[in-house]
Amino acid sequence: MAGSREAGVRELDRATVERIAAGEVITRPARVVAELVENALDAGAERIDVEVDGDGTDRIRVADDGCGMNREDAALAVEPHTTSKIRDAGDLAAADTLGFRGEALASVADAGTLELTTNADDDEIGTRVRVADGETAVADAGRARGTTVEVTELFADRPARRESLASPAREFGRVSELLADYALARPDVAFSLTHDGRETLRTPGTGTTDALVAIYDRETAGHATAFDHRADLETGAGSEPMVGWELRAEGALVAPAVTRSTRDHVHLAVNGRPVANEALRRAVASGYGTLVPSGREPVAVVRLSLPAETVDANVHPAKERVALRDGNTVADAVETGVRDALTTADLRRSGEVAM
Ligand code: ADP
Ligand code: MG
Repeated sequence: MAGSREAGVRELDRATVERIAAGEVITRPARVVAELVENALDAGAERIDVEVDGDGTDRIRVADDGCGMNREDAALAVEPHTTSKIRDAGDLAAADTLGFRGEALASVADAGTLELTTNADDDEIGTRVRVADGETAVADAGRARGTTVEVTELFADRPARRESLASPAREFGRVSELLADYALARPDVAFSLTHDGRETLRTPGTGTTDALVAIYDRETAGHATAFDHRADLETGAGSEPMVGWELRAEGALVAPAVTRSTRDHVHLAVNGRPVANEALRRAVASGYGTLVPSGREPVAVVRLSLPAETVDANVHPAKERVALRDGNTVADAVETGVRDALTTADLRRSGEVAM
């Protein structure tokens, strides 16, 4: 029985399932990509290759070189509410993985046809699990260690979903932005993105500067300065104050010689997950202050490391937004970190940025 093993994929109990933010996760092709990329990162992948055809409903394929799955786990993983990442609601608060709800693969399989090819051990034969029209088939498959998930016929039987999608270019644009955000959240991982057979993005997994070159250009990357700010935060607000926890904000700040006209170039990540958080974005912009001319916006990569207990990713089904405990204190610390780093940086010179 799965539950008796130390590790491995198992089904969550009802009480835990009910604590998990409900809601439809798979609303558009980019959500499929996000869930599959997060699974690859949770599996310890160093390399993640994403392929998209058309608007993504035709085909999405994500291949990783992570830990893979044995046959038993692979067959179980496509079932609803099965996960290897948490055991029960008690683990939710401290979950340090990107996934924890155990429903992504099942939801994807429900919304389209899913074929998962995986191998946990190069010396063993791999496994292919195919879920189509509610039927699951398991077979042998040759594959090196890692996992490939291919999704086809997405929303084939959901005309309302299909109709709610934007043009293929817009839908692919969302995938492209999403992948850039993951690549900047995890510059130690090599990502590639291929659209209709043409490679549109490749980051080498060798740090923030190289990722910025790939996502922006040499000029932008050349103006980036590494920053790494740590703050000991005295108390946390709320019913159970926390004393003496450490915030780390690190990444790269592009000197204000290079700015953009839109606000979406502050790339934020919290504990390895790209997030949209208006308070934090504003904190970064305030850190630049008047260095950025009015009407222009900064380019920055800001990755926060916070104790898992201070972050609640369980507020939004897609986890795109997170709730931060004592968010104002965190925002103030980020603003200070950015301002200090910009004050000490030589903003005219191109800077080298570490990982
Ligand atoms: P969750 O990520 O919330 O656990 P998922 O439905 O996304 O739920 O995945 C279910 C389980 O399948 C995961 O807990 C993990 O054990 C396994 N899994 C999914 N994708 C991969 C992958 N790319 N590599 C290794 N294991 C995976
Ligand atoms: Mg997952």
